[in-house]
Amino acid sequence: MTREYLKKATLTSKSDASDVKATVRAILDDIEAGGDKAAMEYAAKFDQYDGNVVITREEIEAAAALVPEKLKRDIQFAHNNVRRFAEAQKETLKDIEVEVVPGLIAGQKSIPVTGAGCYVPGGRYSHIASAIMTVTTASVAGCKHIVACSPPRPGVGVAPAIIYAADLCGADTILAMGGVQGVAAMTFGLFGLPKANILVGPGNQFVAEAKRMLFGRVGIDMIAGPTDSLILADATADPMVVATDLVGQAEHGYNSPVWLVTDNRPLAEEVMRIVPGLIDDLPEVNRDNAFAAWRDYAEVIVCADREEMAATSDDYAPEHLTVQAEDLEWWLERLSCYGSLFLGEETTVAFGDKAAGTNHVLPTSGAASYTGGLSVHKYMKIVTWQRATREGAKPVAEATARISRLEGMEGHARTADIRLHKYFPDETFD
Ligand code: NAD
Repeated sequence: MTREYLKKATLTSKSDASDVKATVRAILDDIEAGGDKAAMEYAAKFDQYDGNVVITREEIEAAAALVPEKLKRDIQFAHNNVRRFAEAQKETLKDIEVEVVPGLIAGQKSIPVTGAGCYVPGGRYSHIASAIMTVTTASVAGCKHIVACSPPRPGVGVAPAIIYAADLCGADTILAMGGVQGVAAMTFGLFGLPKANILVGPGNQFVAEAKRMLFGRVGIDMIAGPTDSLILADATADPMVVATDLVGQAEHGYNSPVWLVTDNRPLAEEVMRIVPGLIDDLPEVNRDNAFAAWRDYAEVIVCADREEMAATSDDYAPEHLTVQAEDLEWWLERLSCYGSLFLGEETTVAFGDKAAGTNHVLPTSGAASYTGGLSVHKYMKIVTWQRATREGAKPVAEATARISRLEGMEGHARTADIRLHKYFPDETFD
């Protein structure tokens, strides 16, 4: 490897020291013991909210009335695209049936989990798109109970567009509750709700830690850390577009890494020249995030050729991966570690984040080396079944009895024996 770092991160997301674990443990324990009342106390403490928790139909209608018509159409457009894509994903989960030995049939089917708990972040930004991504996918999967929860704004409640989107996409209950208390309410079945079987959706470090701690008693989609993005660009890329895309993703948070990997040094230098001006030009909150993310976490790497670029990208296993280079087919074939891939300048991460149809709940912090993002499949239990004729059972029973005895499991062996002797009384078996 001849990777040359024109800019190297001084911090990594993992260097965030904190006592998040202890905080989350204490909140979960309090809420499990104290129920609705304890959850509401934490909502008052962290979000200065003491209003209604389960949003009523009247409140949903009032929220919808506050959403501008054009935004409603955009939300519907995004919802339709995510639904269409999720429906196609579900098609890939065909039930199967195979005659493993003559007379013994084994099958596989996919069953949706009953209860989905969708976390819709709402602290720093109003993540309308997260409601669309998680609720729509749960609905297409066929979950019977879909709860969405999102943090209320102090004294005001959940953003109207989040309520509108969650309702449109298929949530049967919307909770004005965020953070650990929101996750706990869905898991423990507070406020009269059924308990969730799976928790999905992104959130801050407290939400992520709560999901990690609850995993086991409830399923989770993944543990999401700070969002990260990598751009692969060659000499054909437009430096202004590359720089704009890097800054666009850096605004997620002060610790959201963005990486540029190229085989063209002049392009890298031009992008590095442009980025600070683009950051300066953002509104204040976004600027502060992007400035810190670029200063502390961003990297610009020059490689010898496209093969080394691809290998570097696979090492990083980014959540979002963009290719602005020639020969897109080659990249699609070659790259193997990413949450979601954006091929060519004509599309970009924000399209996937908001409206293109692919899911934006994706593996971060290198997790793309072993998993993809949220899909219909995450809500499905892939289960198996079998049945047999007496003839079909015979060779399996004989093998089962011998393997079981070798293992010392006499009880198992006898469950095979009883069938052999019942179905074939005139034969002897050893
Ligand atoms: P959030 O909804 O995740 O968290 C807000 C909640 O945090 C509040 O309700 C509060 O209860 C809790 N909280 C705040 N400070 C606390 C403390 N000291 N102790 C205990 N609880 C506390 O919203 P956010 O903070 O804006 O974070 C959203 C996250 O989601 C960001 O990291 C963003 O990058 C991420 N995100 C990721 C994706 C993705 O697909 N990867 C998409 C959208 C958002």
